Amino acid sequence: MSLIENAIAANRKNARHHDPSLANKPAPKVAILTCMDPRLNDLLQWLEIKPADADVIRNVGTAATEDVVRSLMFSIHVLGVREVMIVGHTGCGMEIFSEEEFENHIHTQTGAWAVAPDRFHCYKDVNLVTQRQVLKLRSHPWIPSEVVIRGFVFDLSTGELREVTPKDAKNRLAA
Ligand SMILES: [Zn+2]
Repeated sequence: MSLIENAIAANRKNARHHDPSLANKPAPKVAILTCMDPRLNDLLQWLEIKPADADVIRNVGTAATEDVVRSLMFSIHVLGVREVMIVGHTGCGMEIFSEEEFENHIHTQTGAWAVAPDRFHCYKDVNLVTQRQVLKLRSHPWIPSEVVIRGFVFDLSTGELREVTPKDAKNRLAA
Protein backbone atom coordinates (compact mmCIF):
# COMPACT_ATOMS: atom_id res chain seq x y z
CA MET A 1 0.00 0.00 0.00
CA SER A 2 1.25 3.51 -0.77
CA LEU A 3 2.03 5.91 2.06
CA ILE A 4 -0.79 8.16 0.85
CA GLU A 5 -3.28 5.30 1.08
CA ASN A 6 -1.98 4.56 4.59
CA ALA A 7 -2.40 8.23 5.51
CA ILE A 8 -6.00 8.31 4.30
CA ALA A 9 -6.80 5.21 6.36
CA ALA A 10 -5.05 6.70 9.42
CA ASN A 11 -7.03 9.92 9.08
CA ARG A 12 -10.33 8.03 9.05
CA LYS A 13 -9.32 6.45 12.35
CA ASN A 14 -7.73 9.52 14.02
CA ALA A 15 -10.31 12.16 13.04
CA ARG A 16 -12.71 10.50 15.47
CA HIS A 17 -10.55 11.76 18.36
CA HIS A 18 -9.77 15.19 16.90
CA ASP A 19 -9.50 18.28 19.12
CA PRO A 20 -11.87 20.88 17.54
CA SER A 21 -9.93 23.79 19.13
CA LEU A 22 -7.39 23.33 16.35
CA ALA A 23 -9.80 25.35 14.20
CA ASN A 24 -9.19 28.46 16.38
CA LYS A 25 -7.05 31.28 14.94
CA PRO A 26 -3.32 30.44 15.04
CA ALA A 27 -0.98 32.57 17.20
CA PRO A 28 2.61 31.75 16.19
CA LYS A 29 5.46 33.58 17.97
CA VAL A 30 8.29 32.64 15.66
CA ALA A 31 8.70 31.91 11.94
CA ILE A 32 11.30 29.30 11.03
CA LEU A 33 12.72 29.05 7.54
CA THR A 34 14.45 25.72 7.03
CA CYS A 35 15.14 23.00 4.48
CA MET A 36 12.57 20.45 3.34
CA ASP A 37 15.09 17.71 4.16
CA PRO A 38 13.20 14.97 6.10
CA ARG A 39 16.09 14.71 8.56
CA LEU A 40 14.89 18.05 9.95
CA ASN A 41 11.29 16.95 10.48
CA ASP A 42 11.77 16.83 14.26
CA LEU A 43 13.45 20.25 14.47
CA LEU A 44 10.72 21.86 16.58
CA GLN A 45 10.92 19.04 19.07
CA TRP A 46 14.74 19.31 19.32
CA LEU A 47 14.45 23.06 19.90
CA GLU A 48 11.59 22.58 22.37
CA ILE A 49 9.33 24.86 20.38
CA LYS A 50 5.66 23.90 20.54
CA PRO A 51 4.15 23.29 17.08
CA ALA A 52 1.48 25.94 17.79
CA ASP A 53 4.19 28.58 18.39
CA ALA A 54 5.91 28.29 15.01
CA ASP A 55 5.15 29.07 11.39
CA VAL A 56 7.49 26.67 9.62
CA ILE A 57 8.40 27.64 6.06
CA ARG A 58 10.40 25.04 4.16
CA ASN A 59 12.01 24.66 0.78
CA VAL A 60 15.04 22.82 -0.53
CA GLY A 61 18.21 24.64 0.49
CA THR A 62 16.60 27.07 3.02
CA ALA A 63 16.42 29.79 0.37
CA ALA A 64 14.94 33.19 1.22
CA THR A 65 12.91 33.37 -1.97
CA GLU A 66 10.11 35.68 -3.01
CA ASP A 67 7.64 33.02 -1.91
CA VAL A 68 9.25 32.81 1.54
CA VAL A 69 8.80 36.59 1.89
CA ARG A 70 5.17 36.12 0.80
CA SER A 71 4.64 33.66 3.67
CA LEU A 72 6.48 35.92 6.13
CA MET A 73 4.15 38.80 5.28
CA PHE A 74 1.32 36.72 6.69
CA SER A 75 3.35 35.57 9.74
CA ILE A 76 4.49 39.11 10.60
CA HIS A 77 1.69 41.39 9.47
CA VAL A 78 -1.34 39.20 10.14
CA LEU A 79 -0.33 36.80 12.92
CA GLY A 80 2.11 39.04 14.82
CA VAL A 81 5.34 37.01 14.57
CA ARG A 82 8.27 39.05 15.91
CA GLU A 83 11.17 36.60 15.55
CA VAL A 84 12.46 34.81 12.46
CA MET A 85 14.89 31.90 12.63
CA ILE A 86 16.69 30.75 9.49
CA VAL A 87 18.01 27.22 9.98
CA GLY A 88 20.31 25.85 7.29
CA HIS A 89 21.98 22.47 7.80
CA THR A 90 25.12 20.52 7.04
CA GLY A 91 25.12 18.05 4.16
CA CYS A 92 22.33 19.71 2.18
CA GLY A 93 21.59 18.36 -1.30
CA MET A 94 21.94 21.87 -2.70
CA GLU A 95 25.71 21.62 -2.12
CA ILE A 96 25.99 18.78 -4.65
CA PHE A 97 25.46 20.75 -7.87
CA SER A 98 26.25 24.15 -9.32
CA GLU A 99 23.31 25.97 -10.90
CA GLU A 100 24.46 24.87 -14.36
CA GLU A 101 25.05 21.27 -13.31
CA PHE A 102 21.59 21.08 -11.77
CA GLU A 103 19.94 22.50 -14.88
CA ASN A 104 21.89 19.99 -16.98
CA HIS A 105 20.82 17.20 -14.62
CA ILE A 106 17.15 18.09 -15.06
CA HIS A 107 17.65 18.29 -18.80
CA THR A 108 19.16 14.80 -18.76
CA GLN A 109 16.20 13.52 -16.74
CA THR A 110 13.48 15.15 -18.81
CA GLY A 111 14.98 15.89 -22.23
CA ALA A 112 13.62 19.44 -22.03
CA TRP A 113 14.82 22.96 -21.27
CA ALA A 114 12.50 25.35 -19.47
CA VAL A 115 12.47 29.05 -18.60
CA ALA A 116 11.43 28.51 -14.97
CA PRO A 117 12.63 28.02 -12.33
CA ASP A 118 15.42 30.29 -13.43
CA ARG A 119 17.38 29.64 -10.24
CA PHE A 120 17.80 26.66 -7.95
CA HIS A 121 19.70 28.33 -5.08
CA CYS A 122 22.60 25.86 -5.12
CA TYR A 123 25.48 26.77 -2.84
CA LYS A 124 28.88 25.62 -1.60
CA ASP A 125 29.15 27.09 1.92
CA VAL A 126 26.19 26.70 4.28
CA ASN A 127 27.53 29.33 6.72
CA LEU A 128 27.87 31.99 4.04
CA VAL A 129 24.61 31.17 2.33
CA THR A 130 22.69 31.22 5.63
CA GLN A 131 24.19 34.62 6.46
CA ARG A 132 23.14 35.83 3.04
CA GLN A 133 19.55 34.70 3.65
CA VAL A 134 19.53 36.70 6.92
CA LEU A 135 20.76 39.82 5.12
CA LYS A 136 18.30 39.40 2.26
CA LEU A 137 15.37 39.29 4.68
CA ARG A 138 16.89 42.00 6.90
CA SER A 139 17.00 44.46 4.02
CA HIS A 140 13.46 43.74 2.86
CA PRO A 141 11.35 46.91 3.16
CA TRP A 142 8.27 44.98 4.28
CA ILE A 143 10.01 43.33 7.25
CA PRO A 144 10.01 45.85 10.13
CA SER A 145 13.40 46.48 11.78
CA GLU A 146 12.02 45.41 15.19
CA VAL A 147 11.47 41.87 13.86
CA VAL A 148 14.51 39.83 14.93
CA ILE A 149 16.09 37.73 12.18
CA ARG A 150 18.79 35.25 13.22
CA GLY A 151 20.62 32.64 11.18
CA PHE A 152 21.73 29.17 12.29
CA VAL A 153 23.30 26.03 10.88
CA PHE A 154 22.07 22.72 12.26
CA ASP A 155 24.84 20.10 12.29
CA LEU A 156 23.23 16.78 11.43
CA SER A 157 26.17 14.78 12.82
CA THR A 158 26.34 16.46 16.25
CA GLY A 159 22.75 17.69 16.62
CA GLU A 160 24.05 21.16 17.50
CA LEU A 161 22.63 24.45 16.32
CA ARG A 162 25.35 27.00 15.53
CA GLU A 163 24.45 30.67 15.20
CA VAL A 164 25.86 32.40 12.12
CA THR A 165 23.91 35.69 12.22
CA PRO A 166 26.11 38.33 10.57
CA LYS A 167 27.15 41.19 12.87
CA ASP A 168 25.78 43.76 10.46
CA ALA A 169 22.31 42.18 10.44
CA LYS A 170 21.24 44.82 13.02
CA ASN A 171 18.87 42.69 15.06
CA ARG A 172 17.57 45.35 17.40
CA LEU A 173 16.11 42.93 19.94
CA ALA A 174 18.62 40.09 19.57
CA ALA A 175 20.16 38.94 22.82
ZN1 LIG B 1 18.81 20.77 2.87
